[in-house]
Amino acid sequence: KLYNMVQDLKGNIRVFCRIRPVFCAGTKNVIDFIGEDGSLVILDPLKPRKDGRKVFQFNRVFGPTATQDDVFNETQPLIRSVMDGYNVCIFAYGQTGSGKTYTMSGPSGGSTKDLGINYLALNDLFEISNQRKDIITYEIRVQMVEIYNEQIRDLLSEDSSTTKYPFFLISALQNNNLLSHLSVFKALICTNDDGLSLPDATLHTVKSTSDVLNLMKYGEVNRVVCSTAINSRSSRSHSILTVHVHGKDASGNLLRSCLHLVDLAGSERVDKSEVTGDRLKEAQHINKSLSCLGDVITALAQKNSHIPYRNSKLTLLLQDSLGGHAKTLMFAHVSPVEDSFGETISTLKFAQRVS
Ligand code: ADP
Ligand code: MG
Repeated sequence: KLYNMVQDLKGNIRVFCRIRPVFCAGTKNVIDFIGEDGSLVILDPLKPRKDGRKVFQFNRVFGPTATQDDVFNETQPLIRSVMDGYNVCIFAYGQTGSGKTYTMSGPSGGSTKDLGINYLALNDLFEISNQRKDIITYEIRVQMVEIYNEQIRDLLSEDSSTTKYPFFLISALQNNNLLSHLSVFKALICTNDDGLSLPDATLHTVKSTSDVLNLMKYGEVNRVVCSTAINSRSSRSHSILTVHVHGKDASGNLLRSCLHLVDLAGSERVDKSEVTGDRLKEAQHINKSLSCLGDVITALAQKNSHIPYRNSKLTLLLQDSLGGHAKTLMFAHVSPVEDSFGETISTLKFAQRVS
């Protein structure tokens, strides 16, 4: 009920904040207050208490003790709407180490406990598909891609090392066929409503959560194989798990929608005086694509007539699932430790801007 009210107030864009636990005892914590109503108060560690309070407002704030189930329960209505034909995007935003991958996939180290939204969402979609099986036949397919330096790579391709091209070229290069190149290009320049925003990345039909877990593992392996330092690479690329849902009822009515689950590149600013070469290029690509994402969501929230989708691969790729009737949820992840104060404020400001 409350959720619906919030949804009505906020339209199709909502922002949840999640605060990671502190791992080392004795670390100073900048969180002052977490409200049931989505308010959050942060204390500037360098200022006296009365001057250092910064107040933020979100749709919901999850504190360090919130479980994966707590987070999923609030996200579930949004995820379920995919089965009714809505396109949905869920983003995990925040500096490296703030808990993005924990929320989306689960704990580091591949534990099968405390799995994140990706797994819980698919599990739920299968459950609904099963509940409605006498009324609608659903087909659920997934794609997994990574965007690194504005290049898209198919993580579920059998030969992922050969698909590291700008994504509008994936089709042409894989099929060596102009027609399909044109059709992909067309999908990019028109707002097509068929829900297939990445026509040429490998689509895998999944029938159970174990299929999904296996595919996610495969995708992660692909990510590792093609990078020298996995942690740094994964924090500098966006990873997108897309779930395509096709439904057909007895009278032949069709339903098509997709759910994009996006683990964004780390939002930390790098000191331009300290980095050069490849690292600088990476940082510039990340800054640009995250600020483009912010611009798109802000423009949508303000109901502007021009939405600047074309300024980054990420927003171009998700164009059909951002705006219109699509629903967007942004998780702003922060670490409560004192040393992260600057990044925490910048994450919260970004999230406040889009909400
Ligand atoms: P990011 O993807 O933003 O770089 P991670 O999700 O990898 O951050 O989180 C950093 C570390 O903190 C990981 O070891 C992760 O398992 C742990 N972690 C993050 N959030 C939580 C949480 N809410 N509860 C328990 N552990 C967490
Ligand atoms: Mg991560």
